Amino acid sequence: MRKVLVLNTTYEPVNVCSVRRALVLLLKDKAEAIEHADTCFHAERQTFRLPHVIRLRHFVSVPRAASKRISRRAVFARDRHRCQYCGSDRHLTVDHVIPRSKGGADSWDNVVTSCAPCNLKKGDRLPHLADMRLASRPRPPEPASFVFMHVDEIHDSWRPYLGSLAAAPVA
Ligand SMILES: [Zn+2]
Repeated sequence: MRKVLVLNTTYEPVNVCSVRRALVLLLKDKAEAIEHADTCFHAERQTFRLPHVIRLRHFVSVPRAASKRISRRAVFARDRHRCQYCGSDRHLTVDHVIPRSKGGADSWDNVVTSCAPCNLKKGDRLPHLADMRLASRPRPPEPASFVFMHVDEIHDSWRPYLGSLAAAPVA
């Protein structure tokens, strides 16, 4: 079933919900529809157009991304499912740039997506000692990247609200 993008009062993405959940928010006047389909349907004696994007009427505070737990899924989403050494999108693993054995931390600026062959080649070394270069400096992900971690499809009507993530491929 199609999902609905939920925006904060500030128009920043907060999460993605089901159409049913979005309709409940609209019915309770907790949100307004910003983008919708032309399709109409009836619910609770009212006529609705199928929402694509809704905006909450009250601000909700979203935890800062930097404080979020690091997971494989989150690291892959931040790196757009590409090995940060060679660009491959297959056999992805998480690599510690400074190996843990060398005191490297479990922090957003020390973990990157790496394909298994690159991870194997790098081994227990720093990238430059293995003659490897990172595509970009790892940093905490944008808050919105968590919004799309569990979404299979990004609807075109969402793109104006996604900022730099709009171009991100969806895994
Ligand atoms: Zn690679």
